[in-house]
Amino acid sequence: KEKILKRIADHDRWYSLEFFPPRTPSGAANLIGCFDRIAAGQPLFCDITWHPAGDPASNKETSSMMIANTMLNYCGIDTMLHITCYGAKKANMLEYLYKAKDCGIRNLLALRGDPLVGEEWDAEKSDFRYAVDLVKFIRQHFGDYFVICVAGYPQGHPDSTSYEDDLSYLKKKVDCGADFIITQLFFQPETFLKFESDCRAIGITCPIIPGILPIQGFASLRNIVRLAKLDVPKEILACIEPIKDNDEAIRNFGVQTCLDLCRTLLESGKVDGLHFYTLNREFATIEILKKLGLWLEEQTLRALPWKKTSFSHAR
Ligand code: FAD
Repeated sequence: KEKILKRIADHDRWYSLEFFPPRTPSGAANLIGCFDRIAAGQPLFCDITWHPAGDPASNKETSSMMIANTMLNYCGIDTMLHITCYGAKKANMLEYLYKAKDCGIRNLLALRGDPLVGEEWDAEKSDFRYAVDLVKFIRQHFGDYFVICVAGYPQGHPDSTSYEDDLSYLKKKVDCGADFIITQLFFQPETFLKFESDCRAIGITCPIIPGILPIQGFASLRNIVRLAKLDVPKEILACIEPIKDNDEAIRNFGVQTCLDLCRTLLESGKVDGLHFYTLNREFATIEILKKLGLWLEEQTLRALPWKKTSFSHAR
């Protein structure tokens, strides 16, 4: 249980990377193909998101469970599996959790989830109402076996009755057994720093990890903010709207603004770890991590005896 938490506590500076399960077998092959490189960069962990409809094809190569299993057991990357509980019955949930345990997964991001796009909210579908019910359920059935992470919202969750109420529900998730928090994406460092200090003020003491989105394109940004029900600050819109058809310019802007955001957070003294939403396109994130000095691929390669020779030749 201590593993991820101990490493979070022990590391001065670290990062983690989020991926989503691919939609096709060839997408799965591509994603798995990049895991060796990812492993060499030494993230503290990687996580795999969960489809709101659950993981019905959990034996297929495109499922969250299979990708998490491959990442952990074939690529040696510490892995966290997301699980949502909206629409789930307790029996299905137990099945998922035992399956995760059988794969060797020790880290879960426990979420409520949402209805599918266009679907009405249906409380009858679900044995769980809020993420806190899932946190309690996991602790009830598995004790301390899993490290549990939960989601936090620096601007308040879009459905919440107020920012303060949302913070109090976040505290409840932690009081009921969550070990750490990863936040929703945000654009300005002040948003996270205020949230962090508000959490501390109400007695949340666990690690709070900022969720970072490098902007990689205009359409993908629009899509993400629509799903997350967030507004892009007008200063950022003013910069990217004029270059919205120039992918390279947007990407460069995204790398630079993300770099500035990460540096401010790290320099604040409130943040040791950064969690990146890669959207399965890890190159911009790797570029940012290299510039921050957090991408450790060269060190990994030097530690391999057969690479040492080629490195010394290269020098
Ligand atoms: P909760 O913590 O249950 O909160 C949901 C709402 O209910 C909030 O408005 C809260 O204020 C309110 N609330 C909570 N407890 C109570 C209570 N006791 N009484 C009254 N109101 C309450 N979605 C996916 O489908 N798959 C993923 O893999 C996924 N990964 C995510 C990762 C991160 C880091 C984040 C930030 C979000 C992710 N999501 C994912 C989206 C998430 O499922 C949605 O944001 C969802 O709407 C809320 O989930 P939650 O776990 O935060 O819910």
